[in-house]
Amino acid sequence: MRCDLCPSEASVYLRYNGTHLCSEHFCSYVEKRVKKEVRKEIDVFRGDTIGVAVSGGKDSMVMLSILRSIFNERNGINLACISVDEGIAGYRPPSLEIVRRYCSENGIEYRQRSFSEMGLTMDSVAPMSGENTPCTYCGVFRRRLMNDEARKAGAKYLATGHNLDDLSQSVMMNFVRGDLERLARLGPHAKVRPGLVPRFYPLRMIPERESLLYAMLSDVPFWDGVCPYWEAALRNEYRDIVDGLEDRSPGSKYSILSAYDRMRPMLAGEHPPSDSGTCSCGEPCNGRRCKVCEYLDVLRKRIAGP
Ligand SMILES: [Zn+2]
Ligand SMILES: [Zn+2]
Repeated sequence: MRCDLCPSEASVYLRYNGTHLCSEHFCSYVEKRVKKEVRKEIDVFRGDTIGVAVSGGKDSMVMLSILRSIFNERNGINLACISVDEGIAGYRPPSLEIVRRYCSENGIEYRQRSFSEMGLTMDSVAPMSGENTPCTYCGVFRRRLMNDEARKAGAKYLATGHNLDDLSQSVMMNFVRGDLERLARLGPHAKVRPGLVPRFYPLRMIPERESLLYAMLSDVPFWDGVCPYWEAALRNEYRDIVDGLEDRSPGSKYSILSAYDRMRPMLAGEHPPSDSGTCSCGEPCNGRRCKVCEYLDVLRKRIAGP
């Protein structure tokens, strides 16, 4: 098979639009879609900073490398790479090493935060998770540190590496649960409550498989370890459903997101970002206490024992 765009041998077939592409044209097709998404969702000018949440996995590294090719000294837009060390021995240190090295080789500002600032590590939290999964605590603490560091860096936006698969699964999951509020908060964010840095997803239109392929074909370094605490039961159920739909009718993942995009203005109107409360820790929250403080209390009580 030949590439649809040049005489080279095709290395990729994209079922959802029936095209065959060589490595080079495949990579530029990925970059083109990322650029389009970025242009659509954010407004930046010379001197602005964009925070980039990077774990060292394939998606966040692909995102960082493409954002670096878009934003650089030429247009005067600064990238601040932000990583969080959750305290997972054997898993996080090697991935952070990849991120650090990539940033220093490519002249990207690197900022790191750590769960140890809150007096804990995921290695100590995981055995005490109780009725929640370790991911529940990890996600809440990680988002707090990410947002805080993005704010400190003066970032106008925070980019995260969620791809088309992640987001179409999240849309389906919240839709099936009838959780419209969470669906509204999924973003990308046009409006957020004060104190939160608006998030956007540069890889939103890139299927997971293409993100991996891009990383391999463009020699983007990444860490492919699996978190020892990852309990994917529910998420996997939706992964199977969405993959099954895509298999039977190619393009389903895209149509899930485009249906969601058409619903977004309505959802945002019905569930505007509330500025209902401020927690005693100073962070915005729903109600009187934020999730971080609530979870820290629970965990401290468990550590202290009955
Ligand atoms: Zn080609
Ligand atoms: Zn709080």
